[in-house]
Amino acid sequence: MTRIVILGGGPGGYEAALVAASLGATVTVIDSDGIGGACVLTDCVPSKTLIATSETMTNLALAPGLGIRPHGLGAGTEPVLPAVAWGMRSGLDAGVPPLTPPEVVSVDPEQVYERVRELAKAQSLDIERRLEREKVEVVHAAGRLVGPHAIETNTGETFVGDVILIATGASPRDLPTARPDGERILTWRHLYDLKEIPEHLVVVGSGVTGAEFASAYRAMGAEVTLVSSRERVLPGEDPDAARVIEDVFVRRGIEVLNRSRAASVRRIGDGVIVELTDGRTVTGSHALMAVGSVPRTKGLGLTDVGVRLGPGGHVNVDRMSRTSVPGVYAAGDCTGVLPLASVAAMQGRIAMWHALGEAVSPLRLGTVSSNIFTEPEIATVGVTQVMKDTGAVAAEVTTVPLSRNPRAKMMGIEDGFVKLFCRPGSGSVLGGVIVAPRASELILSVSLAVEHGLTVDQIAHTFSIYPSLSGSITEAARVLRPRDFFAGFDSAG
Ligand SMILES: Cc1cc2nc3c(=O)[nH]c(=O)nc-3n(C[C@H](O)[C@H](O)[C@H](O)COP(=O)(O)OP(=O)(O)OC[C@H]3O[C@@H](n4cnc5c(N)ncnc54)[C@H](O)[C@@H]3O)c2cc1C
Repeated sequence: MTRIVILGGGPGGYEAALVAASLGATVTVIDSDGIGGACVLTDCVPSKTLIATSETMTNLALAPGLGIRPHGLGAGTEPVLPAVAWGMRSGLDAGVPPLTPPEVVSVDPEQVYERVRELAKAQSLDIERRLEREKVEVVHAAGRLVGPHAIETNTGETFVGDVILIATGASPRDLPTARPDGERILTWRHLYDLKEIPEHLVVVGSGVTGAEFASAYRAMGAEVTLVSSRERVLPGEDPDAARVIEDVFVRRGIEVLNRSRAASVRRIGDGVIVELTDGRTVTGSHALMAVGSVPRTKGLGLTDVGVRLGPGGHVNVDRMSRTSVPGVYAAGDCTGVLPLASVAAMQGRIAMWHALGEAVSPLRLGTVSSNIFTEPEIATVGVTQVMKDTGAVAAEVTTVPLSRNPRAKMMGIEDGFVKLFCRPGSGSVLGGVIVAPRASELILSVSLAVEHGLTVDQIAHTFSIYPSLSGSITEAARVLRPRDFFAGFDSAG
């Protein structure tokens, strides 16, 4: 029987353990901080739980535009934020103040953070129980490689495996001039221990994490300043999608400081001061450092046994999750391949299928879908605008704004779009970008099309619900398939 020892119990580690156990291997998972990993305990799950609250706050803020009048908010009541701050540009909301915290509804921070912590803990426990049911041995300890087949823990035990999987994840990047203190200068892992919604949160970094928290905290009533070193927020994303988000941010009252690099962050009394490299300063009650992550590969004994690391400290792996040492595999954020829970899990599964002699295809990143949980969300899959614009991929593209979608109009949604890329000639769907509320749910049909090589013709002939936001996906397909009799039905109907 093959013995597998896995270092790290996040999605890279626990999903691998489940696969290996189902194939009859003897499996041990060693984890220092809790099963489920940073994904479940501090990063992905907590942030999306927090965002469930902020999303509800946004919906409440927009409710007056749909004719909902709270009791006690009479004519002449001054909203804390102007209506326009909640992104309502049309006549829908004319003269109707938005529901804005703290007047009519407010967030109870302690309850919100406790809910986040409890949900994360419960999910971690669920995964641990599942591992136990599958007869996976779970060891709560920190481990390090002491040979290509052996891991030693800080509790003095040694675990020997025919196969080792390294899945130790990553930690928030720390800047020497902006050391987090957990009280005022924070990483995203400190947020859920706060007692309050920051009065004025200065978010340093406008990548996915910075944008998600800026969006969420603004919706929960915080003043937010977003410090971005680049031309625009979300520099790595579809430029049209990033423009929509930046526009919404600005309309909702987030101060976006583009081309502004933070040089240092210091505490001043009950607040923080962020010094920019051009000499300007920004003050706030709290600073959130969202400047990326570093792999947790230091001190693991990896290079001592011959495992090669990249310049940033990531474990070098191939598409079968193999490292440079036979029998040692790696998965997840420690490899720097693509920092997503879904990718970590797939890398871990591939490692086990490969190690245990199953037929397995190498990891394919071209069909990974991902989502940014701002409000609205941005979901993407496959070919990107940059790939098309640089000529890396020949593609036709069309963008259908949601403002043309009848369901969106009924729901008062004005921001967002559906963009589809297809191969010229054959019309095979190559990729898509959706900016919409719950874009994460809408992208699946595009992902299916990309994964299975469906054509825009096939999508165009698929019934979508009328009226529905997904009607814009079939509409985009019809636009890319010219001469269609029904083109425009969803927008005109
Ligand atoms: C704020 C935020 C939000 C995110 N949201 C999403 C999202 O919405 N969707 C998505 O797909 N991804 C999201 N991600 C990314 C996702 O969290 C990661 O890609 C995922 O956690 C990677 O899984 P992993 O198994 O590689 O590592 P982790 O989840 O980090 O797990 C690694 C585990 O290894 C343990 N470990 C480390 N060193 C040792 C050691 N020496 N001994 C024993 N154990 C050790 C750690 O304690 C940890 O439990 C988000 C990330 C952040 C920062």
